Amino acid sequence: MAAGTAGDLRPQQACDNRIPGGSGQPPEIPALSYTLDADDAIVAVAGDWDRLALANGCQSLLAARIIGRRLDDFITGDVTRMFVRTMLMSARTLQRAVCRPYRCDSPQVRRLLQMSIVPQADDRLDVRHWQLRQEPVPQPVSVVAAASGSTAGFIKRCSMCNRIRLRQDWVEVGDARNDPSLAGASSLMVVYGVCPDCLRGLPPRLHAATPAPRSGKRVAPAGQ
Ligand SMILES: [Zn+2]
Repeated sequence: MAAGTAGDLRPQQACDNRIPGGSGQPPEIPALSYTLDADDAIVAVAGDWDRLALANGCQSLLAARIIGRRLDDFITGDVTRMFVRTMLMSARTLQRAVCRPYRCDSPQVRRLLQMSIVPQADDRLDVRHWQLRQEPVPQPVSVVAAASGSTAGFIKRCSMCNRIRLRQDWVEVGDARNDPSLAGASSLMVVYGVCPDCLRGLPPRLHAATPAPRSGKRVAPAGQ
């Protein structure tokens, strides 16, 4: 796929273990990490966490307010929650790092980030996030997430690859703008889940424990 196309930013199956800031331009989103205890409670954060939280207007995500709370508190939606739980369980069960690329777009910028879940002693996990690359969106599209419980008529969007479902296909938001069904829409109203392609990236035995897509949204200091 040629550089600069939408496909260039889609998640890849291969684990990219480049060190944050190790090559090229420094990342727009700084590297962040947090540590989970055996019960998936956040026990520590690292990186420029508070600055990023404040820059995104997320005072509720300041380190002092999240340490001690369970990761589940910050994830809404059954599918996304189960998807994350499955990755955490995979890292603990297999006792090896689980890496996944994912998209974290804003209306103006497509960003590809990497998440790495690294087992530590006593069933603790280090969860690290860093940006791999980004590119401007040629025609910015506003995306509005559905409030919980009011999802009728909303378009499904994948929390991992950020594509949206258009009939039977999952497509880039920019590609969907030209579809007749969305003509004239100033913004897209979406409900978050995980698309079949991203679900297939889970380890097979763990995949079976993941429910069918319904709704969900990743919550993080950086994002929409
Ligand atoms: Zn996806």
